[in-house]
Amino acid sequence: MIAVENVSKRYSETVALAPLTFAFRPQATTVLIGPSGCGKSTVLRLLAGLVIPDTGRVIINDVELTDANFSGLRQQMGYVIQDGGLFPHLTARDNVTLLARYLRQGNVAMKQRVASLAELVRLPAAFLDRYPQQLSGGQRQRVALMRALMLDPPLLLLDEPLGALDPITRYALQGELKTIFSQLNKTVVLVTHDLHEAAYFADQIVLMRDGQVIQTGRTEDFQDRPIVPFVTEFVMAQRGHVPSAH
Ligand code: ADP
Repeated sequence: MIAVENVSKRYSETVALAPLTFAFRPQATTVLIGPSGCGKSTVLRLLAGLVIPDTGRVIINDVELTDANFSGLRQQMGYVIQDGGLFPHLTARDNVTLLARYLRQGNVAMKQRVASLAELVRLPAAFLDRYPQQLSGGQRQRVALMRALMLDPPLLLLDEPLGALDPITRYALQGELKTIFSQLNKTVVLVTHDLHEAAYFADQIVLMRDGQVIQTGRTEDFQDRPIVPFVTEFVMAQRGHVPSAH
């Protein structure tokens, strides 16, 4: 089970997360969506162990995340952020293999894994010897995804992974990512602010506001059975509607 139980987080006066409880569906894609500042990235950072909650527990693969087991559990998750977060002084290949080398994996196994991941994310091998600044935004995200998948973690955390890309690249990578998700059977938690993207990827969409979960379901549920007016406002705003003048 991957879950957060009663987690809350404040940054002085700002409530990033109100006490929030949620279990993520195993081997399915859950998409967190909501207005900027509603706490989406904070949920992801909690799952990644990068933020410690003020209250509550984070459960990764049935185990409570603690200081003591953090590094072990961290290897069971891949984490990709908007600009990839690659180390600029390492080549793409060295970025991808950094943790595997630290864990002293064999060279042959590592090489094979890198080759199969490059194929999976459709990155030509020649790009693996380039540094991040010699790659396009789309190529960097492919490398970041390879790095996240290197240790074959059961959990994949993606924070607006396509957010910094131009529309054409974004469109292409959306299609490829979806294929990758369906091939890998991992538990995926993806953050986006785009409802179309959420609908495209999600088995379940979680709509958040002010550090709380407002409604979960699919786009049809938000359209046809909004549980509060905010849900309709959010859906309408995503369609480019403007509020009517009073
Ligand atoms: P989202 O991903 O939905 O845009 P975040 O989870 O990044 O929102 O942030 C939730 C709230 O917590 C926001 O108001 C944000 O400004 C605040 N916040 C997040 N991280 C920090 C931080 N390190 N220091 C201060 N405030 C933060």
